[in-house]
Amino acid sequence: MSSSDQVVRLMTMDGAFRLIAAVTTETARGALASQATGDELGLRLAELLTAAVLVRETTQPTRRVQMVWRDRRGRSLVADSLPDGLNRGLVNPGDSAPVAADGEHLLQVNYTLTNGALHQGLVAVADGDDMATALMRYMKQSEQIVSMIAVAALPGPGGVRAVGGYVVQLLPEATREVITAMTDHLGNLEPMAILLEGRGRTAAELARTVFAGFEHAELATSSLRFGCTCSEVRVMTSILTLAPDEVESMLGGDPLEVRCDACGTQYRITPEALRAFRDQRVARA
Ligand SMILES: [Zn+2]
Repeated sequence: MSSSDQVVRLMTMDGAFRLIAAVTTETARGALASQATGDELGLRLAELLTAAVLVRETTQPTRRVQMVWRDRRGRSLVADSLPDGLNRGLVNPGDSAPVAADGEHLLQVNYTLTNGALHQGLVAVADGDDMATALMRYMKQSEQIVSMIAVAALPGPGGVRAVGGYVVQLLPEATREVITAMTDHLGNLEPMAILLEGRGRTAAELARTVFAGFEHAELATSSLRFGCTCSEVRVMTSILTLAPDEVESMLGGDPLEVRCDACGTQYRITPEALRAFRDQRVARA
């Protein structure tokens, strides 16, 4: 599926600031369609998807970043952002209970470090705090990154009519004077919701607007799209991790219907295919 969504990375020539700007409208629509969700919760999921892109690009561009937004009863929204530009979202995976759109939440960020250890950052989101506020707190507390962040999702057809956001990251070269200048400039910018339908309709326009007046260089542009990592092989691999007697009964039973929670793809696994897959793996091992 083609998408016009992009994420752009810029840096000021004085080395004081780095900017990540993303427009994620099509990506969010894909996720909302597969989750059959809209309204307030859909907007939160769209913001969370954008947040996952921004965190990945800022801190872990080569890794898969997962963000979880959990309500007080433990029900959650999940967004996965992958280095190849694929993104997907889930509403309360494995459970059909509703997720609260308002109230207190926890924002959790997961990714795997080079040494295999799992990084897990967690910040509290007070009732009334927006995604940008939660994200700035996460960046400071868990990544030691001082940043100015904006994220917005506007309601519309397919759940959203425009979604995007940016991170301006302070780098060690930043002096007090340029920090003041940038803070004033960003303070005078239109709110993110206005930018998305004005001077920041694309990631490139958004980036130019956010860095307007600051001499800068473009570092990279990459495309974003909704998509999933599921496959028949993955489904069969996970079936084979079940207890041997369960696998045996599946091999002698009817075809299995398995639906991917993230993208809605239906897989029909026949006992013959499962047996062939298992034998092939045994032969290779
Ligand atoms: Zn899938």
